[in-house]
Amino acid sequence: VAKPITALTVITTERLGPAMQRVWFRGDLAAFAEFDQADRYVKLLFTPEGSPDLGQLGAGERPAVRSYTVLELDVAAGTFAIDFALHGSGFAMRWARAAQPGDAIHVQGPGSGYSPDLTADWYLFAGDDAALPAIRQALAALPAGARGYAVIEVGAPAEELPLPVPEGVELRWLHRDDPASPGLAAAVGGLRWLDGRVDVFVHGEAQTVMQQIRPQLAARGVDARAASISGYWKLGLVDEEFRAWKRELAAAEAD
Ligand SMILES: Cc1cc2nc3c(=O)[nH]c(=O)nc-3n(C[C@H](O)[C@H](O)[C@H](O)COP(=O)(O)OP(=O)(O)OC[C@H]3O[C@@H](n4cnc5c(N)ncnc54)[C@H](O)[C@@H]3O)c2cc1C
Repeated sequence: VAKPITALTVITTERLGPAMQRVWFRGDLAAFAEFDQADRYVKLLFTPEGSPDLGQLGAGERPAVRSYTVLELDVAAGTFAIDFALHGSGFAMRWARAAQPGDAIHVQGPGSGYSPDLTADWYLFAGDDAALPAIRQALAALPAGARGYAVIEVGAPAEELPLPVPEGVELRWLHRDDPASPGLAAAVGGLRWLDGRVDVFVHGEAQTVMQQIRPQLAARGVDARAASISGYWKLGLVDEEFRAWKRELAAAEAD
């Protein structure tokens, strides 16, 4: 069954550093009530030209979708926030950068799949700007004594954001503008592995996540089915092309 569609109004927006725009939404969030997972997300709906006005869709034309993590959800108040990475191009990013109180948009969902496994011995979170909101929520859901690593790549030191990191979790920021940075995959590959069963949440640029980090984790004995690992976007592809690539990869791996 198709997920429900919810009409939203922008309440306010705030800039979280140079490359992240937080947008607050209000609507009837009855469909969101059961979704308390760390990575819960909605699909923002646009026309294929990137307008949020779905009245402009032609007969039988389907909206273009862009997935975003749902933050600060308050179902009773009917509010939540999305942190949009301001990555340069793309109509979702442009819409968020220009959003004003009163603007209208529709979302489909939510969907979700991951919350920290509280029986795990330790945790590994890795990702980039796009995964930062979901990683923040996963960190906030950890028990006080949790151990592990959070490795997060942003553009520059000024783009780092405050995170609720338990004392036993080591936070490592990486910066794309630093020529000496190892990059996300090498940084994850260089981690000293801890004892016991690891709970893994790794998301971000698809090539990095699926073709570099995932094989490393498999080589370390992480069972991919028990881990949350996927691309959130892919360098050089708009979201429609990225999702087609993802389907092809899944089909090839199922063979
Ligand atoms: C489950 C899920 C949750 C997500 N949650 C978030 C979230 O909370 N916040 C968030 O910012 N993103 C999130 N993303 C990623 C987001 O959906 C994509 O970045 C999306 O492509 C943005 O749409 P766009 O219209 O701005 O760009 P598109 O039209 O899809 O792409 C335009 C160009 O920008 C490039 N591009 C796309 N995304 C990025 C990026 N992050 N960095 C650099 N270049 C990029 C593309 O390769 C393309 O060249 C999530 C993705 C998934 C699957």
